[in-house]
Amino acid sequence: MSEVRLIPLGVGEAFTARYYTTCLALGVDGAWLLIECPHPIRKMLREATAEAGFPFDLDRVEGVAVSHLHADHCSGLEDYGYYTYYVLGHRARIAMHPDVSARLWNGLLAGGMGEVRERPGEPVVRKQLDDYFTLTSLSESGPVAVGPFAIECRPTIHPVPTTAFRIRAGGRTLAFSADTAFDPTLIDWLAAADLVVHEATTLVHTGVHTPYEKLAALPAALRARMRLVHYPRRLRPRLERHRAAPPGTRLHRLTPDPGGLPDTQGGWWSRPRDPGAQAHVPGSRGRDHQPPKPLPKTARGKRNGDIANPSGRRPGAVAVPPRSG
Ligand SMILES: [Zn+2]
Ligand SMILES: [Zn+2]
Repeated sequence: MSEVRLIPLGVGEAFTARYYTTCLALGVDGAWLLIECPHPIRKMLREATAEAGFPFDLDRVEGVAVSHLHADHCSGLEDYGYYTYYVLGHRARIAMHPDVSARLWNGLLAGGMGEVRERPGEPVVRKQLDDYFTLTSLSESGPVAVGPFAIECRPTIHPVPTTAFRIRAGGRTLAFSADTAFDPTLIDWLAAADLVVHEATTLVHTGVHTPYEKLAALPAALRARMRLVHYPRRLRPRLERHRAAPPGTRLHRLTPDPGGLPDTQGGWWSRPRDPGAQAHVPGSRGRDHQPPKPLPKTARGKRNGDIANPSGRRPGAVAVPPRSG
């Protein structure tokens, strides 16, 4: 059976001062797909994949699936395009719905990539999207292949054209909500997957993002297959308080376990820290390792003080198990 893995490169929302913004790497049999492409994408890849024990760079990436053109999701596309073109010697693949890509070049990338003067004194050369990129158009009517990944998409409720994804690879399906207001019909669509990664917010703009409380009220069987991303730092106190909730509604972070989802008490996932800060996180192996600080009462016994990580183990690549039941 194929080995399917998910490595979170960033979990923060747009305004986060603590995390990289939301980005995931989905891998099957050595091929990788990025879901979203924020800046600084190569630094994010290097840190997260090394920590996960599967280090790789953009040369192993088949393509990036991008949900929409807000900067916290796509600000790394210029780096991805230039690096792939000039260093790797080929065009970078982007997978997007046509409504999302309609303004990709003129509304986003052309400012930094549209006119190039290779050397001082030489004339400016005008470039187009397909000089650097191969654009794969996703469809609402069926899956579209990017290497070994079959990608389905569906519009979400967000201020700019945005699509959620269901991505099938190696016999498993990962669903990604992208940015969206709470939408029960979208939840139903996502729920067909083996693992659902959904955004969550504490912001009051609920017409734009999904309040955490809405997700916490979903059926336990679905929550067990759902993980959270795109959250602000101040979601953490809510995670803390939620610890008092009955089993099945508690929050947990996925930890490395090739045997499947290791957390069995609710299955929510948060990644509490920026990979860039790993050297300062108790329990990590960085040279700047510091001894653990005293923990708050509610987190006693958890080495990093994070109730989302009951085992205290380091996060990393997560095996995506087949859906059971
Ligand atoms: Zn966002
Ligand atoms: Zn957005």
